[in-house]
Amino acid sequence: MPDDIRSLTEEQIKERFAVLGYPSFRCKQVMQWLDNGCASFEEMTNLPLAMRQELAREFVIPGVTVLRRLESQLDETVKYLFGLPDGETVESVLMHYHHGWSQCLSTQVGCRMGCSFCATGMGGLSRNLSAAEMLSQIETAQRDRGIRVSSVVLMGMGEPLDNYDQVLQFLKMLARPGGVNIGMRHVSLSTCGLVDGIYRLMEEKLQLTLSVSLHAPNNDIRSRLMPVNRRWPVEELLKACREYIRATGRRISFEYAMIDGVNDSDACAAELASCLKGMLCHVNLIPANEVRGKDHKRSTQARLKRFQQILEQNGLNVTVRRTLGADISASCGQLRRQEREEDQTP
Ligand code: SAH
Ligand code: SF4
Repeated sequence: MPDDIRSLTEEQIKERFAVLGYPSFRCKQVMQWLDNGCASFEEMTNLPLAMRQELAREFVIPGVTVLRRLESQLDETVKYLFGLPDGETVESVLMHYHHGWSQCLSTQVGCRMGCSFCATGMGGLSRNLSAAEMLSQIETAQRDRGIRVSSVVLMGMGEPLDNYDQVLQFLKMLARPGGVNIGMRHVSLSTCGLVDGIYRLMEEKLQLTLSVSLHAPNNDIRSRLMPVNRRWPVEELLKACREYIRATGRRISFEYAMIDGVNDSDACAAELASCLKGMLCHVNLIPANEVRGKDHKRSTQARLKRFQQILEQNGLNVTVRRTLGADISASCGQLRRQEREEDQTP
């Protein structure tokens, strides 16, 4: 099997080239082509023909292609369905904020965490994405729109900490000058609460923002929504979060999807406030997206306001997520399902 060249670091490519007998400037040239989104060795015209042919035998250049592109009529949000070399698909969303373009990336095809409200989890996990496939989502969107992405959130399909090694490799590639060149401070990684992964990540001491999908203030409600809570209950998760904050000095962002009649009562707000008391954190309330085939409903605007007010009265920092691209159901997992259902309809 030829190796995926885009999943290798510059150092690793240099080593492989040395074995093949190529001088190190050849590595620079190849890196430049790859950074510009070049998808075949054949196009690398400043390399000798024999070298191009040898590289094509030794390596592959995998990447995503645009299968569908939905453009919001309400704002500048663009939602992509990307195709992978093996026929799998993933979603990604490009959003425009005053500070620039932010892209929501997928880290896996599907997800095995099975959260009850999530469209991605419905079909289970197909496979992990490679680091290169994550990077390629950015390069492909940049090329498609003629823009530069300035921040990324790992909040698309998949659980990033369930694909730990490739996600870490991706984060290292992300900051490389000359490449996509996005610094760690402009990255958010969202997890459903894989406590072992949080401790591992803590050791890396990265300057990224960790988002934790909490969605409930107690085990009773959280275990019903998120099976992962049976493995790592709220107390263990919050303990890991406290240690993470202590070790990294970074504030954690807790995601809380507001689901009508499930986790949005005054009592839930008060309990949440007491759980998070004194923590260096921020709560992001997300009006839950309704998903076809699931019966949960979004909380009312009045409920959301009241919930926010109780948290704020208890001294917490709270924001309510803006719903960008509401007309193109810009949350992930739904477009891929729709596409597959259409495929299966004769
Ligand atoms: N697997 C990671 C990251 C991808 S999901 C995680 O779970 O954190 C990104 C975010 O979308 C998570 O906070 C997740 O809980 C939330 N989410 C999933 N389905 C949703 C829905 N139907 N409505 C609102 N938020 C949802
Ligand atoms: Fe997976 Fe996140 Fe969806 Fe849960 S919310 S099923 S962890 S993608």
